[in-house]
Amino acid sequence: MNLLQLQRKFNTHEKCLLHLEKVRWNGVPVCPYCNEDERIYERKKEYRYHCNNCNKDFSVLVDTIFEDTKLDLTIWFYMIALMCNAPMGISAKELSRDLGISYKTAWYSAMRVRCAMLDQADLLEGIVEFDETYIGGKPRKPNIIVPINSPVLCRVENKRGRGTKKIPVVGAVSRGKSGEVTTKIIEKLTTRNLLAMLKKYVKEDEALVITDEFPSYRAFDKVVEHMTINHKEAFAKGIIHTNTIEGFWSILKDGIRGSYNAISKKYLPFYLAEYSFKYNRRNRRTESFKEFIGNAVAEEKCLVKYKPKKDVKKLAYFRKRRVRV
Ligand SMILES: [Zn+2]
Repeated sequence: MNLLQLQRKFNTHEKCLLHLEKVRWNGVPVCPYCNEDERIYERKKEYRYHCNNCNKDFSVLVDTIFEDTKLDLTIWFYMIALMCNAPMGISAKELSRDLGISYKTAWYSAMRVRCAMLDQADLLEGIVEFDETYIGGKPRKPNIIVPINSPVLCRVENKRGRGTKKIPVVGAVSRGKSGEVTTKIIEKLTTRNLLAMLKKYVKEDEALVITDEFPSYRAFDKVVEHMTINHKEAFAKGIIHTNTIEGFWSILKDGIRGSYNAISKKYLPFYLAEYSFKYNRRNRRTESFKEFIGNAVAEEKCLVKYKPKKDVKKLAYFRKRRVRV
């Protein structure tokens, strides 16, 4: 959805609320606390409902990424459209300028939007490429004193990839026009961890997995059809290559470098969810807003798990106080 359509369709907070109610309940409000759907009474003025079973009030925003928000929903909708339409990512500073909100609000809301971008993708099948990448800044260069009038240019190469302190991220992508990608941070690239990922995301009977010659992938032979490409010899031999997943890594890294400069390990899963969501909808970008709203109001456990802590500082304060008592 583009911004002009958004302006026509969702120009008030009420219209946005009604749309969320339609997507989430389809005309039958359900209590998010006790799942009651019969003894629910509407309080029309406030767009809130009362459950006579558990005697609680609720609105459509409870248990979604919009819970407890003080921000107008029209601003949320604009933010979602801007984020869905930017394949390389959009920084919180940019959102703050575009929407006229503070940087902190923009950052926090954007993180919640990323939560709802977490996909529950179908199992991958067909030709599936597996590869890992390392995310993190360049290590600092050591101070080297270059002698004056030295004929040789002193150049220090930073070590890249395996063996550095960067964060390993493993990805699997099925080839084809609508092929989807799945990513996961795996701290230790052991055979066991990689096999667990393979079993979780790939349809073992209907897939041909292609990897490079990293020893931890060798155990794939026992579980699934597996072929390897030796990158020292060639990058592609017919259909045997990992160029599709390399393409995704390139989008991810260029996006992070261009829009966010640097991101911490703690928040990396949110950014991986964002880039995977956009990559998986690369052929139907105009529909991604609609799909996103469906995701945002879905009551899935994975969303709760990935919800950022409400206020980390406050939590620490409560813990301290509890100890004192
Ligand atoms: Zn209830």
